[in-house]
Amino acid sequence: MASLMWFRRDLRLTDNPAWATATNHGPVTACFVLDPRLWTTAGPHRGPQLIAHLRALDRDLRIHGGRLLILEGDPVEVLPRAAGGYDAVFANRDVTPYALRRDRAIDGGVDVSWHDGSYVVPPGKVTTQAGDPYQVFTPFYRRWLEVDWPQWPPETAPAAVGSNPGSALPESAPPLMEGGEDAARRRLETFAGVVDGYPHLRDRPDLDQTSRLSADLKFGTLGPRTIIEALGTGTQGRDAFVRQLAWREFYAQILLARPDMARRALRPEYDRIEWENDESQFLAWTEGRTGYPIVDAGMRQLAAEGWMHNRVRMITASFLVKDLLVDWRRGERFFRHLLVDGDIPQNAGNWQWVAGTGADAAPYFRVFNPVTQSRKFDPDGDYIRRYVPELAGVAAPAIHTPWDAPGLELAAAGVTLGETYPLPVVDHAEARLRTLAAYEAARS
Ligand code: FAD
Repeated sequence: MASLMWFRRDLRLTDNPAWATATNHGPVTACFVLDPRLWTTAGPHRGPQLIAHLRALDRDLRIHGGRLLILEGDPVEVLPRAAGGYDAVFANRDVTPYALRRDRAIDGGVDVSWHDGSYVVPPGKVTTQAGDPYQVFTPFYRRWLEVDWPQWPPETAPAAVGSNPGSALPESAPPLMEGGEDAARRRLETFAGVVDGYPHLRDRPDLDQTSRLSADLKFGTLGPRTIIEALGTGTQGRDAFVRQLAWREFYAQILLARPDMARRALRPEYDRIEWENDESQFLAWTEGRTGYPIVDAGMRQLAAEGWMHNRVRMITASFLVKDLLVDWRRGERFFRHLLVDGDIPQNAGNWQWVAGTGADAAPYFRVFNPVTQSRKFDPDGDYIRRYVPELAGVAAPAIHTPWDAPGLELAAAGVTLGETYPLPVVDHAEARLRTLAAYEAARS
């Protein structure tokens, strides 16, 4: 009665419904398929992080006397071949369009026992009274809190674990963070110490007090239910945090209903927007050279760390779409390539939120002012100074608007605009009007 457990984005042994069920079934072989298609799109940060998590999973499996079997190739071909030697296959579901297509193709030839391990409530289970997916977050969230959350999986049984390691894992650059579920739990414990400050501090990139658990949720080194259980609820901070986790679940149910969410505006009229798509401005944005310090700091944090603070993700995304009038899809792809937590539902959902084209999105006429945002959320300019060293000598408030700063102050800080730091690529007030006109034309 040997079975095959196919790990995907659930790289943990605790609170893993498919794994727990497989171990209760009898001897089990744990496998991961290195799919060249996903590997080549993993980007510079997710690739090494995945390898680190797989090495750690292999290490954890050795404690059970086994190894992680690494297979290589298109899972649609590899998995049915491998499954031939077992009498059952276990896996947790995924909602991305590629995964759904792949799993449907595999389901045709292999009888997979599917489980739900990536969300608190399986996407598609929280619906309106009419049975439709929610388009607005707050009613979704209320309902999500009300519905019965699925039972925890059974206890993992001490099953014999297959010991063939299969292919060697590729060599890769060092990961951004230590791999594996033990390290993820330590990150969770660190955040548990500050969670009560979350509602007041979560918008401050300079203070950096969010959980940084997004990549663990992406790879499944932590399950969201484990996070909620460890942190608890019932205080303002804990409840605010759980609410953010619910946004993740909200976007997953939208993607399930709208698999084209990364390609089409959820509000179709906005697919008619005539984007400016100026290549040199797009390049300046990607390289953190827009002349708006908060935007440049964010883009440089993304390049250096494969991660960006949520508030700054909103500011940089809004700047691309509403100041530069570049198609949100280009920004979505750029972020997804670099983010260690890059994930279609959250990324496309949030890009559409910022662009005003999506479900429960910011209204199209709401245009973030990068200067006001910078002054409010990075008041002393410490975040900017961390990532834009050429402005390190500029004090607040001038650091938010170097183009307005007195010449003497800039000279004393060693800044020559247009040479050591760029002049703004656009004038925000003019850009705003141009964007509103483009949106209004698309709506009419
Ligand atoms: P915390 O504030 O500690 O939040 C805890 C968890 O809640 C996060 O890890 C995440 O799973 C979830 N969460 C928080 N905010 C959101 C949100 N707005 N939408 C959905 N889930 C949320 N998040 C990703 O995981 N992957 C992405 O590819 C991604 N792309 C984004 C693109 C843009 C333009 C924007 C504005 C946001 C994006 N986010 C994405 C959401 C959010 O920025 C990150 O989840 C968060 O910054 C991760 O840091 P954290 O774990 O410290 O967050």
